[in-house]
Amino acid sequence: MAWFKREIKGIITTTEEKKEAPDGIWNKCPQCKKPLHYSEQVENQYVCHYCGYHLRIGSKEYFSILFDNNEFTELFPDLVSGDPLHFEDTKKYTDRLKETRAKTGLKDAIRAGTGKMGDQPIVIACMDFNFIGGSMGSVVGEKIARSIDYSIEHKIPFLMISKSGGARMMEAAFSLMQMAKTSAKLALLSQAKIPYISLLTDPTTGGVTASYAMLGDINIAEPGSLIGFAGPRVIKETIKKDLPKGFQTAEFVQEHGFLDFIVDRREMKERLSSFMKMMSN
Ligand SMILES: [Zn+2]
Repeated sequence: MAWFKREIKGIITTTEEKKEAPDGIWNKCPQCKKPLHYSEQVENQYVCHYCGYHLRIGSKEYFSILFDNNEFTELFPDLVSGDPLHFEDTKKYTDRLKETRAKTGLKDAIRAGTGKMGDQPIVIACMDFNFIGGSMGSVVGEKIARSIDYSIEHKIPFLMISKSGGARMMEAAFSLMQMAKTSAKLALLSQAKIPYISLLTDPTTGGVTASYAMLGDINIAEPGSLIGFAGPRVIKETIKKDLPKGFQTAEFVQEHGFLDFIVDRREMKERLSSFMKMMSN
């Protein structure tokens, strides 16, 4: 009578035999909460086709969207962080780095590559938020600096895609120095009359906003991105006033003159290619 009385105890279905959808195939849109299939996301360049929400993606996805046929040569892939301050919070900084590298398969919060976009050569450096919050440590700064050198040497335009929580606390002052370093390199790029396009994505905050992200010949953002320096709570407590509606969205920032354009990700490649053509003429 096994069909109504369980006679065998401890029946376990192994993970491989479970009939659930594998992880990551379905995602829920954070804005409209509708389910999105992975293949639809790829097809729609990781934008929700119901409400237009731009999903947070990393360098791998941006490179696949922007480089022609996803063909590029990665630049300086082996740069890794040291631990100059022997920093320790809930865990050692070196352990945190090791774990994050294993988890994400990334070396640090940025990757750089060179290839063609719309048949024109370009250098792209793109930040990865899932590596310690896209924080700007010495590797991020150094990779940007070397990418700019590469741009100058080969006379190729430079595109920076920012996505960051700001400075990397575990590197303290070394992190802040990256602001000056990257800004100085960008000044050299400008002197060499090579175009610099800055693309700000969700979120771009802190020292990144305060340095290279806002120094583009043109500064572009994706719709709905959070763009700011300090968090809203800190600002509210400092100025003792309520903040206006939509404060720190890309749209608000553009209205107040800090951004040139807001471009939908699905049109990004075409728009960027035409800017580059315009600037090279
Ligand atoms: Zn949606």
